[in-house]
Amino acid sequence: MNLPSRDRFEACLLAGAVGDALGYLIEFDKLERIRQQFGPAGLDDLRPEGTAASDDTQMTLFTAEALLRALNRELEKGIPGALPDILHHSYLRWLHTQGHPLGAAPGSGLLLQRPELFHRRAPGNTCVSALASGTAGTVAMPINNSKGCGGVMRAAPVGLAFWRDARLAFDWGAKAAAITHGHPSGYLSAGYLAALVAELVRGRSLEQAQAVADALLREREKHEETLHALEKARLLARTGEPSPEQIEQVGQGWVGEEALAMALYSVLRFPDDPRACLLLAVNHGGDSDSTGAIAGNILGAMLGDRAIPADWRGKVDLWDITQTVAQDLHTHFVAHRPFDPEAARRWPGG
Ligand SMILES: [Mg+2]
Repeated sequence: MNLPSRDRFEACLLAGAVGDALGYLIEFDKLERIRQQFGPAGLDDLRPEGTAASDDTQMTLFTAEALLRALNRELEKGIPGALPDILHHSYLRWLHTQGHPLGAAPGSGLLLQRPELFHRRAPGNTCVSALASGTAGTVAMPINNSKGCGGVMRAAPVGLAFWRDARLAFDWGAKAAAITHGHPSGYLSAGYLAALVAELVRGRSLEQAQAVADALLREREKHEETLHALEKARLLARTGEPSPEQIEQVGQGWVGEEALAMALYSVLRFPDDPRACLLLAVNHGGDSDSTGAIAGNILGAMLGDRAIPADWRGKVDLWDITQTVAQDLHTHFVAHRPFDPEAARRWPGG
């Protein structure tokens, strides 16, 4: 089995942050407004005023935090099986960064020490309300009927942690999303992204990775809507020319299956041209930062370093912390190095 390289781990999360920042500048703008502002080609570069990564990247980091804390706990105390609670606590820590009381979650660890994670950048209503309820949803006990894209946009680290086994990645991606999103398309889209990332970082082709993730999706109840969105994206990616009008035919991206499908469409259109891929992913009238973030996650897992154009490297905020998190995921989940005292302070298991 191919061991995933560290640069794929880093690029999966960093290209996600770049896509998030590109899209956040135009998240609530219709296509017409984007063209008025930036010209006929729409947003055509990372702008100095558009380098802020948003809730998509923030929540992705908190997903990674949970995975690292759960692994540390398991290695340290021999207590496996705590991941659902640890994920919930991590998302409660994220909620705390958005101005809510910390509640039952421990306030320890690296992320809460970083002031740049406390910016409020259009956090998703479903994530906020589900977490503020204090109850964690599950696939068996849905917390609501939401299929917003807040589950899938934070799922990529699950694919990195469970890189050995796409089935586990799918399952845990869905479980992590179901904490806040109870509709199958809200959590199955997250499972799909995690499985896709797991396959890609092991060096599988995009085609092979989709085949594995498709098969896992088909096994799940109520998968039809998500599968249909993906099939539509693939069909459109083989038809005519890529354009904002065409990606809008895939959807708007406010819901999980559309955000996933629009990201996949962009990667299928430009698998070797990260700049074109990420700009295609964000130039539309829908949820641009989430479609950009997910497209970046997929592209980074697939291409490694090449997924980020040289002049965009290091230009997005949360860059350093995102890189640290990706490196730690690789150190502990791939290289299997123990948690030294420094790492244990960043990701406490207790
Ligand atoms: Mg956002």
